[in-house]
Amino acid sequence: MKNLVILGAGTAGTMMANHLHHHLKTPDWNISIIDERDKHYYQPGFLFLPFDIYTPDDIIKTVDEFIPKDVSLIKSRVDKILPEENKVQLADGKQLDYDVLIIATGAKISPEETPGMGGEEWQKSVFDFYTFEGALALRNKLRDWTGGNLVVHITEMPIKCPVAPLEFAFLADSFFKNKDMRDKVGITYVTPLSGAFTKPKATEALTHLLDEKHIRIESDFAIEQVDNENKQIIDYGGRAIPFDILVTVPTNKGDELMDRSGMGDDLNYVPTNKATLQSKVYPNIFVLGDASDIPASKAGSVAHFEAEILTDNILHFVKGEPLSEEFDGHANCFIETGNDKALLIDFNYTHEPVEGSFPFPGIGPLRLLKESRMNHMGKLAFRWIYWNVLLKGTHIPFVSANMSESGKHYEKALNE
Ligand SMILES: Cc1cc2nc3c(=O)[nH]c(=O)nc-3n(C[C@H](O)[C@H](O)[C@H](O)COP(=O)(O)OP(=O)(O)OC[C@H]3O[C@@H](n4cnc5c(N)ncnc54)[C@H](O)[C@@H]3O)c2cc1C
Repeated sequence: MKNLVILGAGTAGTMMANHLHHHLKTPDWNISIIDERDKHYYQPGFLFLPFDIYTPDDIIKTVDEFIPKDVSLIKSRVDKILPEENKVQLADGKQLDYDVLIIATGAKISPEETPGMGGEEWQKSVFDFYTFEGALALRNKLRDWTGGNLVVHITEMPIKCPVAPLEFAFLADSFFKNKDMRDKVGITYVTPLSGAFTKPKATEALTHLLDEKHIRIESDFAIEQVDNENKQIIDYGGRAIPFDILVTVPTNKGDELMDRSGMGDDLNYVPTNKATLQSKVYPNIFVLGDASDIPASKAGSVAHFEAEILTDNILHFVKGEPLSEEFDGHANCFIETGNDKALLIDFNYTHEPVEGSFPFPGIGPLRLLKESRMNHMGKLAFRWIYWNVLLKGTHIPFVSANMSESGKHYEKALNE
């Protein structure tokens, strides 16, 4: 019997287990999936928790309810991979053999990378919303905050869901308006980028929204430290931005097991072929989701598209067939803009987000790069889709793994 082992039972690993158990069956194959956690968090919900839009129950389920019964779920921390020996070592020293390994260990925040960030003000006036604990602490703070300077900050790229900090700023604007205290809160958006986002067309639309909502932007901010005593963030050029509440996205990194295994880059991401999702070094290791170093967005939608393509490639690999070089970096993200509206962006490695309609060319019903209530309904529906469709590895009708160019206004973008 051959062994396929999946590291990580988050978004990407769970989808792979659900795809592959239909194809790689006993007595020929045994599939195992390993995770240190019992809980599966719906991470996009961390954005809504601080504003009391979602409750903890809306965003937490157990890992085991999404893992097929014929897949062995092992609850353990993975200590390291021994790629030359085709083995994985668990925290208790036990080793597992694999014929094929899938790495889906995601990315996590590392506040310790920035001096002062995890200091005495952590979860008092310095918060993150990229963890359940951080989002919950922030919710409790915002419930009875009476106002001041709210600074929303990104430490460095890449981060998971690069639009989430912008969404946080937009939702904060609505939240304080609804509480009738917007005039008591100054909102500043601080980014290491030279504009609101990584892609020019989307940056234009998002900058306009920041202006409209009176959210000040501080760009090109390379943070040097969080000064806990004076409650300010300071960049390498000496620029200081004061805060009463700092909502920061700390440096995101892959799991340290990659460092211990000698398999990660500077940020512990695994060097991966961006079209096949095969490790650049070990042919029987594949990587998807946030754990890889490919230049796609770190998003659940990306993991979903990757999982469809990687399933085909794993089946090609076990049959000794050439891999298809098919993954195009497709990402599809709703951006909450507050007041029950959202934007939708669809892009890949080569095409930046533009206006148009989705998923049906010319019909929609969703509009790309335009604020609408329908897009907001789409964002809220995404939670149901995540639990009931995405994690189970079910294909979403009319949404292909590779990006469709139909219904999108590329000519307009080129002429402008
Ligand atoms: C605030 C926020 C908002 C977001 N919004 C969106 C959105 O609107 N749309 C969207 O598409 N995406 C969004 N995302 C991104 C999305 O949640 C991630 O891209 C997605 O979860 C990545 O899946 P993954 O499987 O790679 O990683 P994860 O889902 O993080 O899973 C990794 C798993 O590996 C396990 N693990 C790691 N290391 C070890 C180890 N050493 N031993 C054992 N287990 C280990 C972890 O416990 C975890 O269960 C958002 C993320 C955040 C934080």
